[in-house]
Formats: sequence, C-alpha cells, structure tokens
Amino acid sequence: MPELPEVETVARDLHRWVAGATIVDVEVRWDRTIRHPEPAERFALELRGAVISRVGRRAKSVLLHLADGRAMTVALRMTGALIVAPPDTPDDPYARVVFRLADGRELRYRDVRKFGRIGLWEGGGLLRSGGHGRSGARRGTREAATQYRVGDVFGRHGPEPLASGFSSARLAARLRGRSARLKTLLLDQSFIAGVGNIYADEALWRARLNPIRAADTLGPDDIRRLHRAVRSVLRQGIANRGASFSDYVGADGEPGANAERLAVYRRTAEPCLRCGTPIRRIVIGQRSTHYCPRCQPDPLHVADPVGAATEVPA
Ligand SMILES: [Zn+2]
Repeated sequence: MPELPEVETVARDLHRWVAGATIVDVEVRWDRTIRHPEPAERFALELRGAVISRVGRRAKSVLLHLADGRAMTVALRMTGALIVAPPDTPDDPYARVVFRLADGRELRYRDVRKFGRIGLWEGGGLLRSGGHGRSGARRGTREAATQYRVGDVFGRHGPEPLASGFSSARLAARLRGRSARLKTLLLDQSFIAGVGNIYADEALWRARLNPIRAADTLGPDDIRRLHRAVRSVLRQGIANRGASFSDYVGADGEPGANAERLAVYRRTAEPCLRCGTPIRRIVIGQRSTHYCPRCQPDPLHVADPVGAATEVPA
C-alpha cells in the first residue's frame, strides 16, 4: 500500500504532466471507485470542462486542485495508480476511470483490485503546514448537511509529518498521555498522517526505539530521535521515488527505488545494517513489524517481545 513518499512521488509527477490540462470527458468504468458525488454520472458531468490547476497530496491521497476551487481526492489504497497516457496508447483493461484531456492525452485511474476511491469536493478547509485537522472536523459537522469541502475529507487526520509546523515539541505534545505502542500509534492516521507499515518500521529502527514500547514512556531524547527519524525516512523515500512492493508504480509507470534502501522492512533474519544482529519479525496489531532486537531493545528486557506486549502497563 502506497504511503506518504509513494503518494508524494505520484503527485509531483502528475503536477508536471497535467497542471493546466482541461478535462473534456470522463468515463467511469467501475462505479464504486467514485466516492462523491453520486451517482458516477454526476461525477463525470461535474468534471466536464474542469481545468486542473495543481496536483498535491494530503495524507495518503493525491489531490487534484481544479481552477474553479474544487478539488479531487484520489486514495490509491492497495493497487491504485494514476497514469498519463499519450494519444493512441492501447486501452488498459484495469482502467476504472478515464479522464480525457483536451490535448488528446488520457489520465487513467488504474486499479487491479478496485479498493481505491475518488471524490470530487468543494474547495477549502484544507489545513496548511502541519494543521491539526481538529478545526476541519468541527467545520465538517456544521456544513456536512449542505456541502462537503475537501478539507472535511481529512478532518480526522493528524498533522503532516513533513510540514514545517511539525516540530519535535509538537510531537512530544501529541505523545503525552498516549499509552499505545509506538508502532500502533505511528500507523494511526489521526495521530500522524501518511505513515504506514514500511516507514513506521524504518523510523523506529533509525530512532533505536522498540516498536512495542508505550508512547508515554519516551524521554525528551527519545522523542527528538523519533521526530528526526520519521522525517528522514519519509524524505529518503521521496528522494528515491518511493518503495515498490507488489503493484505500486509512479505516475510514469515505473517502480520506485526505495525498497532496496530499507533497513529493516521485509529483511527478517538478515543482518542489521548497524550491528549485524538478525532482524526479527513480530506481529503487532495484525501488522508485520521488523526490528533489530539489539539496537531497539525491549523495554522489559524479556525474551519474547510479543508475549511481553500484553504485559506493558498502560
Ligand atoms: Zn542492530
């Protein structure tokens, strides 16, 4: 599943290729891909003639901002991809939505497993540089009865970890009083947006923190290391155009190169890049978790970290 760096890569590529393009026609081939508005015919009709002004990202969604202020959200989920096809490119049987552009190209939403969702929303309400999402949620309840704004879609999401406002102090404040395990908390999109299984494991390894550790046991140094680690693994992911496992590809159809740069994710039993100890795999909250038992010692110093997890005091 694409995480922040993969979605950011798609958004940056798309911005280069489709900013300024006019959508002349939309063909929805799988109605359930369209989350809003319904029915899919209305979605298609409302996009006719729209001009894409800018492509960005919020959390794990690609945002296509339209010149009239509206915005389209694309949640790629498991196998979704946005592909720009030059004129006369052979049709794609997995294209679920096809946006025909005025210059003859097609922007194709391709999705083998069909879990991805696309929505078209009124503009506004998007919080900039590390917003909390709280005010967006409040506005959402007031205006939900009339019209959804794009910001309301993300009302329950936590801050963007790469935003300038996401400081170490801000992370410390959010960790206070949270007894959840670090791994679980990093995956919680209301705690922090965009981090998934790959980058959570990588960040904890880089910060030398055990994934089962309770969040509110971190000292100031631990928090500073975690803050730095989360941001650096995400930045490295973007620099390498994302990590490709299974079906993720960038908007150019090419896989990213970050998978080869990962330190622990899917490296079970391989030597830790720092100390040589075999990487261990455990399951936390039904998610595979990879860590180095030496660099990221168990806070309870017991042999079985999975069994120990249930003993961690709240
Ligand atoms: Zn190690």
